[in-house]
Formats: sequence, C-alpha cells, structure tokens
Amino acid sequence: MVDRPKSEELFARAVRVIPGGVNSPVRAFAAVGGHPVFIDRGEGAELIDSDGNRYLDFCGSWGPLILGHAHPEVLEAINRTAAKGTSFGATTALEVELAEYIVERVAPLEKIRFVSSGTEAVMSAVRLARGFTGRDKIIKFNGCYHGHSDYLLVKAGSGLATLGTPSSGGVPADFAAHTLVADLDDEHAVERYFARYGKDIAAVIIEPIPANNGLLPQLPEFLHFLRDITRRYGALLIFDEVISGFRVGWGGAAERYGIEPDLMTFGKVIGGGMPVGAFGGRADIMDKLAPLGPVYQAGTLSGNPVAMAAGLATMRVLEREDGFTRLEELGNYFEQALRTHLKGVEAAVVRKGSIIWLVFQTQIPHRADQIEAKAIQRFNAMHRAVLDRGVYLPPSGYEVMFVSLAHTEAMLEKGASVLGEVVRA
Ligand code: PMP
Repeated sequence: MVDRPKSEELFARAVRVIPGGVNSPVRAFAAVGGHPVFIDRGEGAELIDSDGNRYLDFCGSWGPLILGHAHPEVLEAINRTAAKGTSFGATTALEVELAEYIVERVAPLEKIRFVSSGTEAVMSAVRLARGFTGRDKIIKFNGCYHGHSDYLLVKAGSGLATLGTPSSGGVPADFAAHTLVADLDDEHAVERYFARYGKDIAAVIIEPIPANNGLLPQLPEFLHFLRDITRRYGALLIFDEVISGFRVGWGGAAERYGIEPDLMTFGKVIGGGMPVGAFGGRADIMDKLAPLGPVYQAGTLSGNPVAMAAGLATMRVLEREDGFTRLEELGNYFEQALRTHLKGVEAAVVRKGSIIWLVFQTQIPHRADQIEAKAIQRFNAMHRAVLDRGVYLPPSGYEVMFVSLAHTEAMLEKGASVLGEVVRA
C-alpha cells in the first residue's frame, strides 16, 4: 500500500465540511474502497497528488481534457483573457467566436447557446423541446445520464448505479411522471410509448454513444429508428453529446451516424476544462428562447469569457494537430495493448475513438441490464492496486477511460501492462 498522508489529512478535513468530502459523488471512492486521492496538479497525461505521487491519468477530468492537463496554449488563452477581467455579465467577442466555430462544424446546428454545465444544457434543451412542441412527456433510456435535473434522474447510470440508488431522493414522483424510460436497443418499447402517448411526447433524448453506464454503443439502425419515429409523431430528437461532442470527431456522434437531431447538447471538450455547456439546433426551435420567444433560460456566468477562450484554444490545437486522426491511433493502440495484456482473462474492451471501457465479462453489453454485477465488482476490486502502481482509473467499473493527445504509446503500453499485472495477481 502506498501511503498518502497529505491526502488522508485533507480527506479528514473535507468530510467535516463537505458531504462525503466530495463536491460530486463520482469522485468518492465509494465503489472501489479507500479514500479519494487529492490532486495537486496535472502535467500532460499525468496527475500529481498532494503527496507528490505521480499517476498516468485515464480519467481526464471525465472527458474535457482532450489535450491533457495544463496544455500551454490553453493556459495562455486563459491567462490572457482573465487578465482583462473574468466576467462582465455582458456580451463579448469570444462568445460569438466559439458559437461560430461550433456551428460551422456541426451540421445540425444553426444556433447555439452557452451555459455553464452539461446539466444546464440538457435541462434547457428539454424545456425548449417542451415549449416548442407544447407537449410534456419525454422518453429517455435506461443507463443514459443527462445531468442531475429532477426529471432526468431516472435510471441514469454510473453515479446512481454505484450508489445502488435507482433514482434520487428529493425528486417528487410527479416530476418524474413525465419521464418515460425505455431500454437501449429496444425499438418495441419506444414504439409502445409512442402508440400510447404519441401526442404528448415532446422529445426522445439519448446519449448517441452511451458512456455513463459502461460504454454501450448502439446499432446505427436503432438511432435511425429514433430519428424516424420522432419525425412521424412530431416529437424532437435530442442527442446529448456532452461526452461525444468534439470527442469522437468534429461533428460528434450525429456526423458519425449520419443523423440530424433537432437539438444537441454539449459540454466537457468545448470548455477546455473550464465550466461550460451548450445546447443548439434548428433556428426555428432555438428562436423560441427568450428574449425572442416564450421559453425562459438564463445564466449569470453563461458564455464566460475565460471559459470560451479555453474552449477555443483547445479546439484550435485539436484542429492544427489533426487531433481526431491521432486520437483514433492512440485509442486503437490502447485497445490492442489491453487485449494483449489481458489475454486469457474474461474481459471485453469496448472502444469508440478515444473513449475506452474495460469490462470483466465476455459478452459485450448493448444495454444497461446486460452488464454483470460481478464484472463491475472485479474492476472495483483491482482499482486500489492499479492506483498504487501509478495508474489513475475512474473510481467505478461503470466508468469509461479517456485517452488524450498527451498520452504516448509508451504510456498506453504502461497503463495496459499495469492493468494486466494486477488482474493476474
Ligand atoms: N450529459 C452527459 C451525456 C454527461 O456525460 C454529463 C456529465 N457526465 C452530463 C450530461 C452532465 O454534465 P455536467 O456534469 O457538466 O452537469
């Protein structure tokens, strides 16, 4: 066991003043045991904790850090912008620049609005879908996470799966009553909901690459089916691309699958590690937002200049370095290295570009209920030993790993070999 006296001391202080010692439950080591490691800084693909231990990082702040930690060009943009003032509550050129940058690259988007988190982005998109259609119900999928707003905390993936809470306390049953939940990959369930409630369904929302309850890639046919059935019933299709947006390619999953959703949500990469979310889509829908239309949505720090600058700098580096080609190479390298080091182990490696999930079962799941509890227990059981050998994995078997442009082949080989050693031990 590696001693981490500073982390332990910080944790003891944290639990006195912060519930569970963490500001987001997925940061707790509840599933894997032990206490969380306190991070002092990041350098490229590495994290350094408060005791000075170094770790190869496969969490990447849960997705935003596609260039790795503390990229000099991102830091320079942040510092240059912050020196002029950190928030004005008035419009700035940077918001226009980032909006143009994204709208030019994501085909279904005509207009976009920035918020400060993925939760806000999805909450606003759903309100807009309801305001636009004049309908109340939405369909979501078991295992897809769309942030922590009341009516979306129903069968919502890892954080809740980890805690063994099917839903959340504090959500009135009435609020969740308009949320219809279907299994992924289950056309019949969706058809049945539309047959029964068709005129009341405002939208179907899905993570087109579900990555919050393991990585559960969907058949293209299923996503096309959702596009067709929503059109047929006058409902909107919302792609929640908070993870997949600017992670699996310029046009996100929408482009990958050749589907035009009506609304899309973003977060993570587009903020370059600063708090940002966004939602966008067809202009006739987006123009229903205040101040043009009746659907209210607002934010003191929305479109924050420092965050906009970090996002722009991140995406410009990605573009200049042909980032998605390299990320595909690195992702593939890691996948092969994991396969080699886990040969003979009951495990599957699931990958979409630089998003990778390791699960200790042989059958590749496509729905939340196909993930075996013992597969997750096996991951959780090895987490601490992997950490002690200098590899930082997200602290739950339901979570995916992220590879960044700062990872090298040698680092990926090291990560895979540590995993292999620990699993065999
Ligand atoms: N949607 C998806 C698909 C997500 O992965 C997340 C966060 N993991 C959210 C929404 C919520 O984003 P945030 O944590 O920034 O509120």
